[in-house]
Amino acid sequence: MSITKKLTEIKSQLPAHVTLVAVSKTKPVADLMEAYTAGQRIFGENKIQEMTDKWGQMPKDIQWHMIGHVQSNKVKFMAEYVSLIHGVDSLKLLQEINKQAKKYNRIIDCLLQIHIAEEETKFGLDEEELNYILTSDDFKSLENIKIVGLMGMATFTENQNQIEKEFNHLKTIFDKLKTQNSELKTLSMGMSGDYQLAISCGSTMVRIGSSIFGTRNYQ
Ligand SMILES: *Cc1c(COP(=O)(O)O)cnc(C)c1O
Repeated sequence: MSITKKLTEIKSQLPAHVTLVAVSKTKPVADLMEAYTAGQRIFGENKIQEMTDKWGQMPKDIQWHMIGHVQSNKVKFMAEYVSLIHGVDSLKLLQEINKQAKKYNRIIDCLLQIHIAEEETKFGLDEEELNYILTSDDFKSLENIKIVGLMGMATFTENQNQIEKEFNHLKTIFDKLKTQNSELKTLSMGMSGDYQLAISCGSTMVRIGSSIFGTRNYQ
Protein backbone atom coordinates (compact mmCIF):
# COMPACT_ATOMS: atom_id res chain seq x y z
CA MET A 1 0.00 0.00 0.00
CA SER A 2 1.28 3.50 -0.77
CA ILE A 3 2.27 6.02 1.91
CA THR A 4 -0.64 8.22 0.81
CA LYS A 5 -3.09 5.39 1.24
CA LYS A 6 -1.80 4.30 4.65
CA LEU A 7 -1.70 7.88 5.90
CA THR A 8 -5.23 8.58 4.71
CA GLU A 9 -6.52 5.40 6.26
CA ILE A 10 -4.96 6.13 9.68
CA LYS A 11 -6.13 9.75 9.64
CA SER A 12 -9.68 8.69 8.88
CA GLN A 13 -9.65 6.55 12.04
CA LEU A 14 -8.35 9.22 14.42
CA PRO A 15 -10.80 11.19 16.55
CA ALA A 16 -10.79 14.93 15.82
CA HIS A 17 -9.04 15.82 19.11
CA VAL A 18 -6.06 13.56 18.37
CA THR A 19 -3.06 15.02 16.49
CA LEU A 20 -1.02 12.78 14.22
CA VAL A 21 2.76 13.08 14.22
CA ALA A 22 4.12 11.24 11.18
CA VAL A 23 7.37 9.69 12.40
CA SER A 24 9.71 9.84 9.43
CA LYS A 25 13.08 8.97 11.01
CA THR A 26 15.46 7.11 8.65
CA LYS A 27 13.10 7.74 5.70
CA PRO A 28 14.16 9.69 2.59
CA VAL A 29 12.79 13.15 1.82
CA ALA A 30 10.84 11.69 -1.13
CA ASP A 31 8.77 9.62 1.30
CA LEU A 32 8.12 12.64 3.50
CA MET A 33 7.12 14.66 0.44
CA GLU A 34 4.56 12.03 -0.47
CA ALA A 35 3.01 12.41 2.99
CA TYR A 36 3.24 16.20 2.68
CA THR A 37 1.43 16.15 -0.65
CA ALA A 38 -1.24 14.01 0.99
CA GLY A 39 -1.74 16.82 3.50
CA GLN A 40 0.51 15.87 6.42
CA ARG A 41 2.20 18.86 8.07
CA ILE A 42 3.59 17.44 11.34
CA PHE A 43 6.66 15.23 11.16
CA GLY A 44 8.56 13.57 13.99
CA GLU A 45 12.27 12.78 13.95
CA ASN A 46 14.56 11.40 16.64
CA LYS A 47 17.93 12.74 15.49
CA ILE A 48 18.56 16.47 15.44
CA GLN A 49 21.03 16.36 12.53
CA GLU A 50 18.68 14.34 10.34
CA MET A 51 15.71 16.56 11.22
CA THR A 52 17.72 19.70 10.41
CA ASP A 53 18.78 18.30 7.02
CA LYS A 54 15.15 17.53 6.17
CA TRP A 55 13.97 20.92 7.46
CA GLY A 56 16.42 22.54 5.03
CA GLN A 57 15.08 20.56 2.09
CA MET A 58 11.35 20.67 2.71
CA PRO A 59 8.50 23.23 2.60
CA LYS A 60 8.53 25.73 5.42
CA ASP A 61 4.97 25.20 6.63
CA ILE A 62 5.96 21.87 8.20
CA GLN A 63 5.96 21.56 11.98
CA TRP A 64 8.98 19.56 13.11
CA HIS A 65 8.71 17.55 16.32
CA MET A 66 11.78 16.17 18.08
CA ILE A 67 10.61 12.88 19.57
CA GLY A 68 13.95 11.31 20.51
CA HIS A 69 16.30 11.75 23.42
CA VAL A 70 17.90 15.18 23.21
CA GLN A 71 21.55 15.87 23.92
CA SER A 72 22.02 19.35 25.35
CA ASN A 73 24.91 20.22 23.06
CA LYS A 74 22.73 19.71 19.97
CA VAL A 75 19.75 21.86 20.96
CA LYS A 76 21.31 24.83 19.16
CA PHE A 77 20.89 23.13 15.78
CA MET A 78 17.08 22.97 16.03
CA ALA A 79 16.28 26.03 18.17
CA GLU A 80 15.50 28.18 15.14
CA TYR A 81 12.67 26.02 13.85
CA VAL A 82 11.62 23.10 16.07
CA SER A 83 7.92 23.21 16.86
CA LEU A 84 7.65 20.76 19.77
CA ILE A 85 10.23 18.81 21.77
CA HIS A 86 8.67 15.63 23.20
CA GLY A 87 11.44 14.04 25.21
CA VAL A 88 12.46 16.61 27.81
CA ASP A 89 13.48 14.91 31.03
CA SER A 90 15.71 17.25 33.00
CA LEU A 91 15.88 20.81 34.26
CA LYS A 92 19.34 21.11 32.73
CA LEU A 93 17.92 20.34 29.29
CA LEU A 94 15.08 22.83 29.79
CA GLN A 95 17.63 25.48 30.69
CA GLU A 96 19.60 24.80 27.52
CA ILE A 97 16.45 24.87 25.35
CA ASN A 98 15.51 28.15 27.02
CA LYS A 99 18.94 29.61 26.33
CA GLN A 100 18.91 28.63 22.65
CA ALA A 101 15.29 29.72 22.13
CA LYS A 102 16.17 33.15 23.47
CA LYS A 103 18.75 33.61 20.70
CA TYR A 104 15.95 33.39 18.17
CA ASN A 105 13.50 35.33 20.29
CA ARG A 106 11.28 32.26 20.42
CA ILE A 107 9.27 30.38 23.03
CA ILE A 108 9.73 26.67 22.37
CA ASP A 109 6.95 24.29 23.34
CA CYS A 110 8.09 21.21 25.28
CA LEU A 111 6.60 18.02 26.65
CA LEU A 112 8.06 16.47 29.77
CA GLN A 113 8.76 12.78 29.29
CA ILE A 114 7.48 10.52 32.04
CA HIS A 115 8.95 7.09 32.65
CA ILE A 116 6.02 4.65 32.52
CA ALA A 117 7.61 1.52 31.07
CA GLU A 118 9.06 -1.39 32.94
CA GLU A 119 12.35 -1.30 31.03
CA GLU A 120 15.23 0.54 32.64
CA THR A 121 16.44 1.82 29.29
CA LYS A 122 13.55 4.14 28.52
CA PHE A 123 14.17 7.75 29.45
CA GLY A 124 11.88 9.87 31.53
CA LEU A 125 10.99 11.37 34.87
CA ASP A 126 9.06 9.86 37.73
CA GLU A 127 6.28 11.83 39.36
CA GLU A 128 8.50 13.13 42.15
CA GLU A 129 11.14 14.45 39.74
CA LEU A 130 8.38 16.00 37.64
CA ASN A 131 6.97 17.91 40.60
CA TYR A 132 10.43 18.90 41.72
CA ILE A 133 11.13 20.52 38.33
CA LEU A 134 7.78 22.24 38.01
CA THR A 135 7.92 23.82 41.45
CA SER A 136 11.57 24.91 41.36
CA ASP A 137 12.49 28.58 41.11
CA ASP A 138 14.98 27.76 38.37
CA PHE A 139 12.13 26.42 36.25
CA LYS A 140 9.87 29.37 36.95
CA SER A 141 12.52 31.78 35.71
CA LEU A 142 12.62 30.20 32.22
CA GLU A 143 10.83 32.57 29.84
CA ASN A 144 11.62 31.02 26.47
CA ILE A 145 10.17 27.56 27.00
CA LYS A 146 6.60 26.48 27.60
CA ILE A 147 5.53 23.11 28.97
CA VAL A 148 2.41 22.14 27.02
CA GLY A 149 2.00 18.56 28.15
CA LEU A 150 3.50 15.14 28.84
CA MET A 151 4.89 12.29 26.77
CA GLY A 152 5.46 8.65 27.53
CA MET A 153 6.33 5.31 25.97
CA ALA A 154 4.87 2.03 27.12
CA THR A 155 6.85 -1.15 27.58
CA PHE A 156 7.62 -3.04 24.37
CA THR A 157 5.42 -6.05 25.04
CA GLU A 158 2.50 -8.02 23.63
CA ASN A 159 0.75 -7.75 26.99
CA GLN A 160 -2.10 -5.31 26.32
CA ASN A 161 -3.08 -5.18 30.00
CA GLN A 162 0.34 -3.96 30.95
CA ILE A 163 0.43 -1.33 28.20
CA GLU A 164 -3.02 -0.16 29.21
CA LYS A 165 -1.93 0.10 32.85
CA GLU A 166 1.07 2.22 31.86
CA PHE A 167 -0.99 4.53 29.65
CA ASN A 168 -3.57 4.96 32.42
CA HIS A 169 -0.79 5.80 34.85
CA LEU A 170 0.43 8.57 32.55
CA LYS A 171 -3.11 9.86 32.03
CA THR A 172 -3.59 10.07 35.80
CA ILE A 173 -0.42 12.15 36.21
CA PHE A 174 -1.51 14.35 33.30
CA ASP A 175 -4.97 14.97 34.77
CA LYS A 176 -3.52 15.79 38.17
CA LEU A 177 -1.13 18.29 36.63
CA LYS A 178 -3.86 19.83 34.51
CA THR A 179 -5.75 20.92 37.61
CA GLN A 180 -2.71 23.06 38.48
CA ASN A 181 -1.87 24.27 34.98
CA SER A 182 -4.61 24.88 32.45
CA GLU A 183 -2.03 25.38 29.67
CA LEU A 184 -1.40 21.65 29.57
CA LYS A 185 -3.15 20.30 26.51
CA THR A 186 -1.02 17.61 24.97
CA LEU A 187 -0.68 14.02 26.07
CA SER A 188 1.70 12.36 23.60
CA MET A 189 1.34 8.62 23.84
CA GLY A 190 0.84 5.83 21.31
CA MET A 191 2.88 4.49 18.38
CA SER A 192 2.06 2.18 15.44
CA GLY A 193 1.50 -0.85 17.64
CA ASP A 194 -0.49 0.72 20.45
CA TYR A 195 -2.04 4.01 19.32
CA GLN A 196 -5.63 2.79 19.40
CA LEU A 197 -5.20 1.67 23.00
CA ALA A 198 -3.43 4.96 23.80
CA ILE A 199 -6.34 6.95 22.40
CA SER A 200 -8.82 4.97 24.45
CA CYS A 201 -6.68 5.84 27.51
CA GLY A 202 -6.79 9.57 26.76
CA SER A 203 -3.96 10.32 24.33
CA THR A 204 -4.26 13.58 22.37
CA MET A 205 -1.19 13.05 20.17
CA VAL A 206 0.02 9.85 18.52
CA ARG A 207 3.45 9.29 17.01
CA ILE A 208 3.12 6.87 14.11
CA GLY A 209 6.02 5.77 11.92
CA SER A 210 6.11 2.28 10.47
CA SER A 211 2.35 2.02 9.89
CA ILE A 212 2.67 5.00 7.52
CA PHE A 213 6.15 4.72 6.02
CA GLY A 214 6.82 0.97 6.34
CA THR A 215 9.42 -0.79 8.45
CA ARG A 216 12.72 0.99 8.99
CA ASN A 217 16.14 -0.28 7.91
CA TYR A 218 18.90 0.63 10.30
CA GLN A 219 22.43 0.27 8.98
C1 LIG B 1 10.25 5.67 16.32
C2 LIG B 1 9.37 6.25 17.35
C3 LIG B 1 7.97 6.24 17.18
C4 LIG B 1 7.28 5.58 16.01
O1 LIG B 1 7.37 4.20 16.09
P1 LIG B 1 6.50 3.23 15.14
O2 LIG B 1 6.40 1.99 15.90
O3 LIG B 1 7.29 3.10 13.88
O4 LIG B 1 5.20 3.90 14.91
C5 LIG B 1 7.21 6.87 18.15
N1 LIG B 1 7.77 7.47 19.22
C6 LIG B 1 9.10 7.51 19.40
C7 LIG B 1 9.64 8.19 20.60
C8 LIG B 1 9.95 6.90 18.48
O5 LIG B 1 11.27 6.94 18.67
